[in-house]
Amino acid sequence: MRVLIVEDEPDLLGSLLQALREDGYAADSAEDGEEGLYKAESYEYDAILLDVMLPGIDGWEVLSKLRKTKKTPVLILTARDAVRDRVKGLDTGADDYVVKPFDIDEVLARLRALIRRSASEAQPRLAIGEVLIDMAARTVTLRGEVVTLTAREYGLLEFLALHRGKLVTRTMLYEHLFDENDNTLSNLLDVHVSNLRKKLGHDFITTRRGHGYSIDPAL
Ligand code: CA
Repeated sequence: MRVLIVEDEPDLLGSLLQALREDGYAADSAEDGEEGLYKAESYEYDAILLDVMLPGIDGWEVLSKLRKTKKTPVLILTARDAVRDRVKGLDTGADDYVVKPFDIDEVLARLRALIRRSASEAQPRLAIGEVLIDMAARTVTLRGEVVTLTAREYGLLEFLALHRGKLVTRTMLYEHLFDENDNTLSNLLDVHVSNLRKKLGHDFITTRRGHGYSIDPAL
């Protein structure tokens, strides 16, 4: 999953980027409203973390402009727990919000819930054949045995699983699994797919030659 963080406080931005990448997200950043809006409109993010108080145009304006063209889930980071802000956020099209100072684990949990909701997946646990994916704990088991995945393998598996039954093109995977600084890793896609097959069974992921990959929901 690829996430954009729009935040002008360097320390906070740094910790959010680190936490997201450790959890296997591809994470891009923007430090002001214009750059945030530009990236949000230009790329297919799975979610956006949007600070309210930003230099240039503020978070509300970024959100209302973005909503004219895109429905990307937005989690607002606000410094004030005021009812007015909450109402304004929801009216402007925010999907959820957290109040600063926040616990990063809470941000991560809300982010996971947002991404699940936008994939119409209310439950955090997903069973496909003998594979069970727990998207809240970010753990995977095969026939009840824990399977150890790298953060990137997990990200790939989750994306394919949330789109099960559909063709996931290589372009979609490049757009959703790799961040703006990640170009050198993009040619490793085949390696990650091959590693997942070794761990979960060769038939778990189907290759649609020349097009991409899919997971059969009827496995
Ligand atoms: Ca700020």
